[in-house]
Amino acid sequence: MASPPADLVRHLRDLPPVQLLYTDFDGTLLGPHGSLLLGPDERPSVRAAAALVAAREAGVTVVPVSGRRHALLAGDARLLGLRDYVAEAGTVVCRAGEVSYVWGEAPADLAGTPREAVRDSGALAALLGAFPDDLRLYHPWDEGRVGEYLLHGLVDVDVADRVLAGAGAPWARLVDNGAAHGWPGRTVRAYHLLPRGTGKAAAVAADLAARGLTGDVAMAVGDSLEDATMAAVVGTYVQVANGHAELGGNALRAPGAMGDGFADAVAAALAAAAR
Ligand SMILES: [Mg+2]
Repeated sequence: MASPPADLVRHLRDLPPVQLLYTDFDGTLLGPHGSLLLGPDERPSVRAAAALVAAREAGVTVVPVSGRRHALLAGDARLLGLRDYVAEAGTVVCRAGEVSYVWGEAPADLAGTPREAVRDSGALAALLGAFPDDLRLYHPWDEGRVGEYLLHGLVDVDVADRVLAGAGAPWARLVDNGAAHGWPGRTVRAYHLLPRGTGKAAAVAADLAARGLTGDVAMAVGDSLEDATMAAVVGTYVQVANGHAELGGNALRAPGAMGDGFADAVAAALAAAAR
C-alpha cells in the first residue's frame, strides 16, 4: 500500500480512531464502468478491493452510501460482504438486515413509500408538466426505485422547487446529481426528486445516532457535491481526486482518483489509528 497522505493522517490523529467508513460507490469506491477491479486508468487493479478488506480486517464498519437503487445496491453490498448500506441518495437505509425508508418532510400517511408519496401527491406530474421538453424519467436507472425518483434533463432547480411548492408539495425538492447521459443530442444532468430533510448527510447522521456513535469516529469518502454534504456530520470527509466540491476544514482531498482515492483514505485512517 502506498504511504498515506500526510495531511490526512495529521487530521485523523486529532480524532478517535475511525470506526465507521461511509463510502459513495460510483466514482469513489468503484472505478470506470462501475467496476471494483478497474483502476482510474481502466487497467485491472485490486487496490480499492484490498483497501476495503484492510479496513474490515482492522474492525472498521464500511457502509456504502449511494444513489443506486435499493435492489441493485443490496446485491452489490452482498457481493462485497457488506451488511449495511444507504441507497437511493439517502432515502433507503439497511441496517442489521432491516430496511427502512427515510421520509424527511414527506407526509408518511400518503403512501407506502417516499417514492409513492412523490407520485401520489402530484409532485412528479407537476414537475414533468412544467418542463415537458427538458426533464424526463432517467430510464433505465429510475426503474425499480422505492425511495425517490431519478430524472435527467436540464432545468433550474430553484424554478423546479417553486413548481413543487405550487403543486402542493413544498416538502419535495429536486437535487442536481451532476452530469449525466442517455438523452441523444442533449447535454443533460441527473436529478434526484426526493423529500426535503433526506439526502446522504441526513442518512449518515441518523445511522450514527442509531448506532449510538458520534461523528468524530466516522469518515466519509465521495466525489459529488451531494457526497460533500456528509462532511458536516462526520469527523473526516475525503474527496477523491476526481471530485469537484470545494474543500476545507474537515474536508480533505485524496491524491488518488476513484478507488485509488478510497485506498488513500483507508491507508490514512489505519496509519492514524496505529499511533
Ligand atoms: Mg459518486
